[in-house]
Amino acid sequence: MENVIIVGTGCAGLTAAIYTARANLSPLVLEGRMPGGQLTTTTAVENFPGFPEGIEGPDLIMLIHRQAEKFGARFRYGVVEEFEPGTPHRLKVDGEWIEARAIIVASGASPRYIGLEGESALIGHGLTSCATCDGAFYRDVPVCVVGGGDSACEEATFLTRFASTVYLIHRRDTLRASKIMADRALANPKIKPLWNSTVSAFLTDAAGEVRGVRLRDTRNASESDLEVKCVFVAIGHEPNTSAFRGILATDENGYLVQKHGTGTNIPGVFAAGDVADHVYRQAITAAGQGCAAAIDAERWLASGG
Ligand code: NAP
Repeated sequence: MENVIIVGTGCAGLTAAIYTARANLSPLVLEGRMPGGQLTTTTAVENFPGFPEGIEGPDLIMLIHRQAEKFGARFRYGVVEEFEPGTPHRLKVDGEWIEARAIIVASGASPRYIGLEGESALIGHGLTSCATCDGAFYRDVPVCVVGGGDSACEEATFLTRFASTVYLIHRRDTLRASKIMADRALANPKIKPLWNSTVSAFLTDAAGEVRGVRLRDTRNASESDLEVKCVFVAIGHEPNTSAFRGILATDENGYLVQKHGTGTNIPGVFAAGDVADHVYRQAITAAGQGCAAAIDAERWLASGG
């Protein structure tokens, strides 16, 4: 039986691995469908403390991974299919049941993309879901944000610091965003809303970088092209909780609910990072939560959990 199993190897899971490994708990860390998590899909990370020159997302993840291994964390590829709470807790991983006294769920969230053909190949080449990560690369050029919720308004407003124009492409003629976020975005002279519009295709240049989007008017299906250097997709995230659904408590958006620090509704099961956080969603906040979950798990085990 394991002391602690950590589900996920993004910033949260790997940081939890460092802390639990240094606490001599010999954690087993499960690399899921996307080892390394969302940072592996970004390019330069300029806001992670300690890297004044910036660091590539995949390099940062590799370093944190190595740091966890150095202290004795053990890694295994595998997707969690089922979860049975108990003493011990049980996880079914690729058909095999494994047991642990404590579990840290750090399975992250996956940004929703539009679902157009060839879309995934453009991620990092002018298509992204993270304005905080990539906005600063697009100075004095037009960009667009797809979506009409709080995320889209927040990202569009943030991007006005850099871009010459931020087109806000929304499929309806009213925003879903809260009034304060919507008002702020619409009052910004750099933000140009394009109502009743969806992206029907990405336009690329010879180097395979995005140079624009084809828009379809949802009222009459007419199409037009728009020149932008980057498309920021902000149509929501899906927390990766399928194996835990119905057992671990979630909020109305499907994110795990934390209580008493990083605890969940099941004693001995902790949650960290984007699977429980739809507010901050930063590498550094995920790492911080991974640290907190490791300390919570360690204390729970030490108290006889
Ligand atoms: P959201 O509220 O679910 O909004 C998603 C937006 O994307 C909606 O406008 C939706 O259009 C659009 N959309 C969905 N699928 C689409 C598709 N296939 N093609 C085109 N458009 C599509 O998601 P979110 O903005 O990420 O927010 C998630 C949660 O986090 C919300 O509860 C939000 O309040 C919260 N949040 C809060 C803050 C903040 O307070 N600072 C910031 C960000 C997020 P429709 O409107 O037509 O459905």
